[in-house]
Amino acid sequence: MAQDPVIIVGAGHAGFQLAASLRQHSFEGGITLISDEAVLPYQRPPLSKEYLDGKIGLDLLLMRPEAFYRDHRIDYLPGTGVSEIDRVGKTVRLASGERVGYGHLVLATGARNRVPALPGIELDGVAYLRTLAETDLLRDRLAAANNVVVIGAGFIGLEFAAVARGSGKSVHIVELTERAMGRVVSVPSSRFFAEAHRRTGVEFSFGAQAARVAGRNGRVDHVELAGGARLPADLVLVSIGVVPNGELAAAAGLAVANGIVANEELLTADVNISAIGDCAAFPSRHAAGQPTRLEAVQNAADHARCVADRIVGKPHPYGALPWFWSEQGKLRLQIAGLTTGHDQTVVRGTVESGEFSVFCYKAGALLGVESVNRPADHAHARRLLAAGRAVAPEEAADMSFDLRAAATAKAA
Ligand code: FAD
Repeated sequence: MAQDPVIIVGAGHAGFQLAASLRQHSFEGGITLISDEAVLPYQRPPLSKEYLDGKIGLDLLLMRPEAFYRDHRIDYLPGTGVSEIDRVGKTVRLASGERVGYGHLVLATGARNRVPALPGIELDGVAYLRTLAETDLLRDRLAAANNVVVIGAGFIGLEFAAVARGSGKSVHIVELTERAMGRVVSVPSSRFFAEAHRRTGVEFSFGAQAARVAGRNGRVDHVELAGGARLPADLVLVSIGVVPNGELAAAAGLAVANGIVANEELLTADVNISAIGDCAAFPSRHAAGQPTRLEAVQNAADHARCVADRIVGKPHPYGALPWFWSEQGKLRLQIAGLTTGHDQTVVRGTVESGEFSVFCYKAGALLGVESVNRPADHAHARRLLAAGRAVAPEEAADMSFDLRAAATAKAA
C-alpha cells in the first residue's frame, strides 16, 4: 500500500506539504500534484501583505523553484482541474478527460471566495483576494484607485485596508457585525485593531450592510448601504469569507458539511481518500472533538504531515495545536489555540501600550491566547496549550508571573 501512487488534488499549502513530506519520509511511489491554478505552488499569506505591497516578488512567494518537483519526482500538473472521482475504479478524471489512477487520493482543494448576491457585484472594479491572479489584478487596480471600499472586516479585509491606506488611498470598511474580526478574536483585540486602523485614517461602518454596488459605464462608482448611505468607490474589495471546495467529494458520495468530513486521522468514509487543509472538517481535540474547519497555514501543513505519516505506515490521530497570525500594517497578531466560545478574557500587559496578550477562558479553562506585538507570549502560550498546562486568570494578568517558566516546566 505504501508504494501505491498518491494523487493530491490542490497544490496550496496542504497539497504541497503533503508531496514534500512524503518524499522526506522516503516514500517511493508516484506522486501527482494537481492544481487548477496555472503557476507553481505558492504561499498565500504574503498576497495580502508584502506581495500586495510590492515588497516581495513572485520568486519569494513560490514554495519551491521548479527544479524541486523534478528532483523529488513530484509530477506537478498546473492549470489542470480534477472534475470527477471514480471511487470504484480508483481514478480521477482531469478536465481534459484523461483518467489517472490512484492508490490513495488526497483532497486538498481549499476554499474559494464567498460572493454575495448583491446587485452590481459583477461590475468592473469589484475585486477579491484569494489567488495570485486576483492579487495581481488587485494590485494594478489599487495603484489607480482613489476611494476604496472593503466589504467585510475579517483578517484579509483588514490586511488589505492597511496596505491600501499605507499607499495613501481613502479606505472605508463596511462590516455587518458590530466589531472587527468578530468571528475569530476577543473583544479587547477587536477594539484595539479597529482603533489602530482608525488612527491611520481608515473609516468603519459597523452593523452596516452593503445593499448594492452601483456603477457608471460598467465600472463601480459607489457602494450603497442598507440605510441608503452611499460610499464613493472606484475599487471594492469583497472579503466576506470563503466557501470550502467540497463539490468534488460530494459528487463522489462523500459527506460534506462545512467541509469534507474526515475522521481524527483525516480519512474520509472511503479508506482510500483523505481530506486536508481548508477543505476538511475534522474532529479537533482542541474543540472538544467537535467538527472543525480551520483556515490557516499551520493547519494545512500539519494536516499534510499527519497524512504523510499514515501513508508511510505510521498512522496517528491529528492533534496539533492550532495557531494563526495576521499582519496589519505594523501590528502583528498571533493566536494560539481556538478561542471560540470563551466566557472570560484576561489582558496581560496593557492594550494602550499596543503590546499585550488576551488570555481567553471557558469555565476557567484556558482555550487560547491572542498576542499583539508580544511574540514571546505567543511562543509560551503555544507550549502551555499544547501540553494542556493550566494558567489561572490571575496568574495570566500578573506581569510578575513567569509565563516562560510555566511553559517550560516539566510535567509533575
Ligand atoms: P488552498 O491554499 O486554498 O489551496 C487549494 C488549491 O486547490 C487551490 O489552488 C485551488 O484552486 C485548488 N483546487 C480546488 N479544487 C480543485 C480541483 N478540482 N482540481 C484542481 N485543483 C483544485 N493563514 C495564516 O495562517 N496566516 C496568514 O497570515 C494568512 N494570510 C492569508 C492571506 C490571504 C490573502 C489568504 C487568501 C489566505 C491567508 N491565510 C493565512 C490562510 C491560508 O493561506 C490558508 O489556510 C491555506 O492556503 C490553506 O491551504 P490549502 O492547501 O488547504 O488550500
